[in-house]
Amino acid sequence: MSSIVVVGANWGDEGKGRIVDFLAEQASASIRFQGGNNAGHTVVNDLGTFKLHQLPSGVFNPDCLAVLGPGMVISPASLSEEIAEVAEAGVKVNMCISDRATLCLPLHALEDTLEEQRLGDKAYGSTHQGIAPAYGDRVMKKGILVGWLKQPEVLVERIKFWMDWKLPQLRALYPTFEFEQTAEEMANWLLEVSAPWRDAICNVTLPLKELQAKDQTLLFEAQLGAGRDLVYGEYPWTTSSNVVSMYAGIGSGLPALRPERVIAVAKAFSSSVGTGTLITAMEEQDAFRELAGEFGATTGRPRDMGYFDAVATKNGVELQAATEIALTKVDCLTGLKDLKICVGYEGEHSENPIWPQTAALAPIYEKMESWSEDITGCRKFEELPVAAQKYVLRIEELMGVPVKMVSVGPGREQMIMR
Ligand code: GDP
Ligand code: MG
Repeated sequence: MSSIVVVGANWGDEGKGRIVDFLAEQASASIRFQGGNNAGHTVVNDLGTFKLHQLPSGVFNPDCLAVLGPGMVISPASLSEEIAEVAEAGVKVNMCISDRATLCLPLHALEDTLEEQRLGDKAYGSTHQGIAPAYGDRVMKKGILVGWLKQPEVLVERIKFWMDWKLPQLRALYPTFEFEQTAEEMANWLLEVSAPWRDAICNVTLPLKELQAKDQTLLFEAQLGAGRDLVYGEYPWTTSSNVVSMYAGIGSGLPALRPERVIAVAKAFSSSVGTGTLITAMEEQDAFRELAGEFGATTGRPRDMGYFDAVATKNGVELQAATEIALTKVDCLTGLKDLKICVGYEGEHSENPIWPQTAALAPIYEKMESWSEDITGCRKFEELPVAAQKYVLRIEELMGVPVKMVSVGPGREQMIMR
């Protein structure tokens, strides 16, 4: 039996989705343990190109149980749409949804949007999906649980309890706020929209323990990356959940989990979307962004582009308790003349950066040899140009953890195992 946790070493969008899709061929369960509809995990395989938001990326293996864990916030209408989308490609989802997960409702999305508007140029750069308000309500013990969709009387009562508390706050804070729906109407809408998956709601611990007892491989998938963890990331430019590997068990319904493998997915260069500071930002970003296709999967926003930041990534690898690294998008560096790696920072607090003051830090670069050969067809490490091999090996040395997977294109097969 093995438990494999796939997490992000950076700020998200490292390519976790494609790594999970690749590994899911060997897994019996593919599990999302935090976050919600704000995730954008891209999978390119023989069925097509998919941007997954709430479904785990192992959903394309029909023998793999897709699990949405208790640590998630679930947007019900979007989940139904996503199930329909993959069904159109011929995928029949065999799934379990935790009764302890929290619903992320249209009212949360509205609150998120109004709050970002109120903040103006101080906005967080949210995806406007309602993730922060939904987690906030959960913490305030006002959250609406997925399991209550199976108990309509409880559902109406809890929605009413929540609205009595929530609506006066929203009316007081946002002058344009309007909301007419009653608790009964909201509950009816929820029952209608959750129809495609309501039967899948259960205590997900039970099927997962059964698979563990049969020595099956369980594959856990985080959203975002270490830099965005609610506790250990660059607060307040974080997400509202815990994205670190040690949360995988808690957010999945297996709180005693001790994962055998933790794969930190790191990108061969740095990029970041949303608000925050990318210390290794390139001076000329546009051409490289187009080449690397660096636009947010959920929002389409252009990502900030930078050189590989070995300081931030090493911190990410440590926070993730990684046993190995998957290095993605190495092919995007082909032809980049001024190739370099940031090996340290200069400036105040450079030894122990304090966020958000780190804006003043300057990167210390190590020059790397570049290459110009197309590497997208390479399947063995030795087939890579020597300069590309040296680049990967230098990163491995700086991280202190083996780089076991190197990807050279978005397709499932564009992978080098070491
Ligand atoms: P995630 O959120 O960590 O799953 O990553 P995203 O899917 O948001 O972003 C990764 C993007 O890079 C997607 O468009 C992938 O198709 C693409 N991608 C992943 N691995 C590679 C790779 O090795 N090479 C190239 N060129 N693209 C890749
Ligand atoms: Mg993404």
